[in-house]
Amino acid sequence: MALIVQKYGGTSVDGPERVKHVARRVVETKQAGNDVVVVVSAPGDMTDDLIAMAHELNPNPPAREMDMLLTTGEQMSIALLAMAIHQLGEKAISLTGAQVGILTNSAFSKARILEVSCERLRKELDQGKIVIVAGFQGITNDNEITTLGRGGSDTTAVAVAAVLKADVCQIYTDVDGVYTADPRVVSSAKKLEVISYDEMLELASLGAQVLQPRAVEFAKLNDVVLEVRSSFNNNEGTLVKEVTEMEKKMVVSGVAGDKNVARIALLDVPDVPGIASALFKALAEENINVDMIVQSAMQHCFNDIAFTVDRNDLKKAIEVSEKIKPEIGASGFTYNDKVAKVSIVGAGMITNPGVAASMFDCLANEGINIQMISTSEIKVSCIIDEKHLTKAMKSLHRHFGLE
Ligand code: ASP
Ligand code: MG
Repeated sequence: MALIVQKYGGTSVDGPERVKHVARRVVETKQAGNDVVVVVSAPGDMTDDLIAMAHELNPNPPAREMDMLLTTGEQMSIALLAMAIHQLGEKAISLTGAQVGILTNSAFSKARILEVSCERLRKELDQGKIVIVAGFQGITNDNEITTLGRGGSDTTAVAVAAVLKADVCQIYTDVDGVYTADPRVVSSAKKLEVISYDEMLELASLGAQVLQPRAVEFAKLNDVVLEVRSSFNNNEGTLVKEVTEMEKKMVVSGVAGDKNVARIALLDVPDVPGIASALFKALAEENINVDMIVQSAMQHCFNDIAFTVDRNDLKKAIEVSEKIKPEIGASGFTYNDKVAKVSIVGAGMITNPGVAASMFDCLANEGINIQMISTSEIKVSCIIDEKHLTKAMKSLHRHFGLE
């Protein structure tokens, strides 16, 4: 007998037929002799719809009330799923984050989990019940309801799996697993059998929307093995876990593309200490996340400093650049929101020199100009013209033998 945590995303519980389908799957798992805890998201687009509804009433809704509103979506899912399971003759109980004892800090809309109590979960499991937990929500020490950031049900599932020391945490979604590239862009993309936490973290933050990056971090920290699989079929999914040296046989395990990128360059700034500090402090104060940074080689004591931000932060970043321009002595700045980031990820890169060169070679052969480069131990990213993104992803996928 195993203890299994299953998480079902919004599309998996969108409408009565799908809820029934999930209920059958949960009951099968239980009847195979396992203890089962289920974490669910709000149905379909409900979270988006609730956000839109709030903004109709108030363009700047109070954060506390926003979390109060958004947690209702998950609450609807847990109650309906519990009813569907009862109808199949199994005992089930739904619990909100507060009822479980998912303690968070008080950062509304992006709260961090501080502690998960296992008391109530254990008590219900010991009574032979299937326990259904509302994802994405928690409670503060002052009894305020919080949410964990978009996609936060993944993190709930991992946290619950960690505290219960579950044998596996299954993430049921609308795709079959983690692919070598987005199959909608690269049709020859293949499903990966296994991927390391670090690779998954890179891919998740590069916009592969299979798992919330925070959930992967949490899983790595607590050694929770994740299994990403489809709720619509019985295909084997992808395991996300610590991968041994032996298993790192692929130098590159995935190619990712991200269009949510804009580039800004401040021109001819004096080459003296304190310039980068002033610029990036000003951006941080506006809560703008900077991704890549490149400072050009000094020419006559002047540099160009270029950086990238999320496209939705471009407007704010332009305002900051405009304001800081005289302060840091820049002659001007340029920006471009028609750029994209293409990346290769692979744990085997650490021990294989020349991977970056091979990537640049591939892009050059396609006539694609590289505007910026950044690297980590297991990732190389290039900023290119947005119109070349699909071509770049396809040729890199082929070039690194992923098909
Ligand atoms: N319903 C929330 C969202 O859409 C949480 C989740 O789906 O994981 O972000
Ligand atoms: Mg989701």
